[in-house]
Amino acid sequence: MKAGNDTVVKLTYELRTEPNGEVRDAADRENPFSFLFGHNNVLDKFEKNLEGKIAGNQFSFTLTAEEGYGEYDEQAVIELDKNVFSHEGVVQNEMIFVGNIVPLQDQYGNPFQGRIVKVADDKVTVDLNHPFAGKSLYFSGEVIEVREANPTEIEHGHVHEHGDHSHH
Ligand code: ZN
Repeated sequence: MKAGNDTVVKLTYELRTEPNGEVRDAADRENPFSFLFGHNNVLDKFEKNLEGKIAGNQFSFTLTAEEGYGEYDEQAVIELDKNVFSHEGVVQNEMIFVGNIVPLQDQYGNPFQGRIVKVADDKVTVDLNHPFAGKSLYFSGEVIEVREANPTEIEHGHVHEHGDHSHH
């Protein structure tokens, strides 16, 4: 079966942000990555590069930053008061360190994440860019399995595996 709309594709991959750089993200045969094709679960261009592939096919392709997680936005680096990281009036100092990924909310209460890049006396600088923003994405790997999605998966728009439906 060929990878295409309403199929479930299971694959291994390695993701680099330099042609021969370190592996930044990966899925191996022990813990492969599965997704429902054609339901906006993965980057568009990632999907396009896998269309028509069958089990056993190897792949290697590159996405530009634009096709990936977008250009790096200098405006998305913001300075916050440490008070933002308070719980019941107490600043949670143990979560304030460079490199930590912290949960934030916009003015409407929608959650998003930021990465702390600088800590000063009473200010914290947070980078809201995706970690791969501004980077080309070099994917390589192998398609392990392509199967027809079942009707419930198509209805839900995602893969059901290992009998785990706890996400509902
Ligand atoms: Zn579901």
